[in-house]
Amino acid sequence: MHINHISLFARALTLVRRAALVAAVTTIAGCTTVAPRTEGIAKGCARTDLLAGNARFLAGGMQSHTWQAERVIHTGEFGQSPSVGILSCADSRVPLEILFDEGVGDLFVVRGAGNFEDVGGTATFEYGVAALGVHTIVVLGHTKCGAIEATVAAKPLPGNMPAITDALSPGLGEFIKTKAAGGTPNLTAAAEVNVRYQMKRLLERSAMLRAARDDGSLTLLCAMYDVDTGIVRFLD
Ligand SMILES: [Zn+2]
Repeated sequence: MHINHISLFARALTLVRRAALVAAVTTIAGCTTVAPRTEGIAKGCARTDLLAGNARFLAGGMQSHTWQAERVIHTGEFGQSPSVGILSCADSRVPLEILFDEGVGDLFVVRGAGNFEDVGGTATFEYGVAALGVHTIVVLGHTKCGAIEATVAAKPLPGNMPAITDALSPGLGEFIKTKAAGGTPNLTAAAEVNVRYQMKRLLERSAMLRAARDDGSLTLLCAMYDVDTGIVRFLD
């Protein structure tokens, strides 16, 4: 009897949640945005969909994170087919699934301090594009990035940390010079320059990703996240 009550309650809850799911379907600029998601982000709709998710996050109306059990079961049984790859900083203030209001199975993510490109990350994106159906890659920088600040300051770092600044410094020469001359470089501008530089590095390293871009199967987007406001801004 007790189990039956629980079962009935669970079923009722499922119906309520499905009703909420239907209510959450909206169409923006020809792109159907859904939260919680039951299908991947449509090709050509990544920017629209991610901005719609960011708007839900900003409004406190996030939906993907209220209930992910169905997505866990579905992706566990049938495998993943993420739509969007994101190269992001490891900064804890940039939680991708939360700030884009996406869920289990949506995003294919590579993270490292300063969102720097390296062979491991690029191989990961090649795998995502070739085997999983990733059709868009976003390089996402952010304001107040410690890796950007450390690179521009050009101070010696311990351990393996120079691997980060070595990856960033070739793209940030003008900012490093300004700082060395006693000036105050604009670190948000530096983070934007770094986003474009890391995207350039990604394409320089990967013939596979260049070919996918050239045949139209891969879209590349640069974006910035503001840690003070929670707003995502696409650069292109
Ligand atoms: Zn950062």
